[in-house]
Amino acid sequence: MLLNSPLMESKRREAALKIINSKVKKNRQNLYDLTGLSGGFPLKKNDINLLETYAGPAIFEEKLHPLGIEHLGGEKVLALNRTSSGLLASILALVKPGGETVHYLPQLPSHPSIPLSLKLLGAENREITKLSQLKVSEKTDLVIITASTMDHHVIGESEFREIIDAAHKQQVPVLVDDASGARLRTVVYHQPRALDMGADLAITSTDKLMDGPRAGLMSGKAGLVDLVKTKAHQFGLEAQPPLIAGIVRALENYNPERINNSISRKKELYKELQDKFLVKETPTGIMLQADDLMDKLKDVETSLKPSDVSGVLAMILLRNHNIVTIPAVGMPGASPTIRLDMASRDAERMDNKTIIHALEKSFNELRKVILNTNLCKEILFE
Ligand SMILES: *Cc1c(COP(=O)(O)O)cnc(C)c1O
Repeated sequence: MLLNSPLMESKRREAALKIINSKVKKNRQNLYDLTGLSGGFPLKKNDINLLETYAGPAIFEEKLHPLGIEHLGGEKVLALNRTSSGLLASILALVKPGGETVHYLPQLPSHPSIPLSLKLLGAENREITKLSQLKVSEKTDLVIITASTMDHHVIGESEFREIIDAAHKQQVPVLVDDASGARLRTVVYHQPRALDMGADLAITSTDKLMDGPRAGLMSGKAGLVDLVKTKAHQFGLEAQPPLIAGIVRALENYNPERINNSISRKKELYKELQDKFLVKETPTGIMLQADDLMDKLKDVETSLKPSDVSGVLAMILLRNHNIVTIPAVGMPGASPTIRLDMASRDAERMDNKTIIHALEKSFNELRKVILNTNLCKEILFE
């Protein structure tokens, strides 16, 4: 196993960023970021003069409030450094040391920030993927719902409502990890906003399927938001003025049209790829899961694990075809699924034929290189 620790995953990310650096230094147009995470920072010129420690939040939090409520619903809004930071702050605020939580998600695995935060408190982390496993008691501190997973598996609306009901019957608050879901669920599946279905807190990532900075935007019941906000400030997890300003401008610009347009585009891409690879559809793109990739390679002798193999393929896609995917650039614990998101801004500059050609060429290259572990090491880390 090559990517056998969070440290090695960080090394792989560093190598990927080095490749991106050399491509982007020549021309940003050389790169096709199809992750669906764009990290836009659409500040206005005058905003820059206000990015001060106290004037910044005083001005931009006032602007953020109505925009955040419009996007997520709820009573009070909080901006956080990342979605991960918001999940950590919420768990620190709402779960007792050694306490008990239930976490529903449509499919494993969870984003690592949730189990790792619970571990800090020595709290029990009961992860469930089926409603039949749902048991909330008066001893439960918090119910967490991941509404759309890292691979964009999306919860059904009836499950969503049932979990909230079960939690509220025991007076247990519900926190929704709506990182991509706040847009995927509402735009693609026409579901209500999490807070409109009765959830107590919801957090979304402002760079997933919208052109904002990588940051967390939370809303919910004012009293709970206040508790999370206090914890966030104690541990330095809140968004600083530049981020808050970036979120404000991104919310002003937000338009679900690109998400809507991606749906027909991905259907075509899926149709053309389904016989060639074991690809699956996502709400706005296609994905090649690490286990399916191994299945396609079962005639090849290799000691590599599925996540190594998807990492190598992602690095080949980046190096040879300028395509950025999460298994190349993701942080430790990110999903090993190669997901091509047609709602990405850069997808507009790349046609389906080019994408298919890049996948075929990269896959053939992968077939050759996985026989040689040292070569794979070089591809991942150098
Ligand atoms: C992306 C994501 C997160 C974390 O977002 P960051 O901005 O990386 O902190 C958490 N949960 C889910 C389901 C995600 O998809």
